[in-house]
Amino acid sequence: MNWSLTIGRIAGTNIRLHITFLIFLAWIGISDYLAGGPSAAVESIVFILLVFLCVTLHEFGHITMARRFGVNTPQVILSPIGGIAAMERMPENPRQELLVAIAGPLVNVGIALVLMAVFGLGLGFFTTIDFDHASLAERLLIVNIMLVLFNLIPAFPMDGGRVLRAILAMNMGAARATAIAARIGQFFAIVFFVAGLLWNPILMFVGVFIYLAAGAEEQQATFTGFASRLTVRDAMEPSPVVLEVSQPVSEAIDALLASPQRDFPVVDRAQRIVGLLDRDAMIVGLRDKGESVPVGEVMRACQPLPPGMPLPEAFTRMRAAGATAEVVADEGGNVIGVLTVENVAEMMMVAGARPGWRFRRSR
Ligand code: ZN
Repeated sequence: MNWSLTIGRIAGTNIRLHITFLIFLAWIGISDYLAGGPSAAVESIVFILLVFLCVTLHEFGHITMARRFGVNTPQVILSPIGGIAAMERMPENPRQELLVAIAGPLVNVGIALVLMAVFGLGLGFFTTIDFDHASLAERLLIVNIMLVLFNLIPAFPMDGGRVLRAILAMNMGAARATAIAARIGQFFAIVFFVAGLLWNPILMFVGVFIYLAAGAEEQQATFTGFASRLTVRDAMEPSPVVLEVSQPVSEAIDALLASPQRDFPVVDRAQRIVGLLDRDAMIVGLRDKGESVPVGEVMRACQPLPPGMPLPEAFTRMRAAGATAEVVADEGGNVIGVLTVENVAEMMMVAGARPGWRFRRSR
């Protein structure tokens, strides 16, 4: 079952609403309408939209930090507990994972500080606050502080859980760190559910949500295990169009438009691999240097991958080089394919829909 709806796309990331987020919004809107009539409902809709904006900015904190480490984010799912940026992968380096996890809550800290500065709000009003009669700015300040506190609860897969896992992984193996963080997350899901039964049904939502998110996280872990059994050859796009270093970029554009391929291996006259030209570099080269500039002047260097290399190892190398695509070459130095992050992301979607799927090129 699909638990979310796509509502927009920013910088290559689809923004999706988790169904529980919609239920949460509808519940607040309806209860305010019943309690205070249409004007209260309008006010709460404005408030909800601003909350939604803060949650989205929180997610783009994660996404922007992840992009610094070469990790793209195909989609972000917004939920009542702050949303999940569905990154292609988490950085394996625990320090990078920690920075990505903390970047979201830091955005809300920033928003809270701006609200306090602009509206002259101190934290003192917290002790006497009556949420229903607070100003919009005060309510937003509270929401942002709650988002920070909530997300930092060490319940994997919430941000605090990722921070915890990263810290654990600095001191033990990644697998053990994940297992411990996941168990702590399950414990918090049960605590939330029981607290929800006793005090506030929202907490029951949160408990259930953490369980669902933990399931998704488990699926991700399953894929990682699955990917570790695949090689570069299994995941690469075979027989790519190859460009020669002296060809003008206009011919590269022709090749780009003639096929779905976006990353082109570049060889010299002796057919030795000298670089890789991707679509963006092609367009920039065309714009800045004109259509007759040789491919060799706009391409980037590459480090060809051997086809037998395990997929996770290839990804680690590509990440270190900040590359989203890499040339695959046989022992003789001949181009036999291109490995792209996008293609592997597509395999991930297939594996998510059909966990037992046997990929055509798998052995
Ligand atoms: Zn977050």
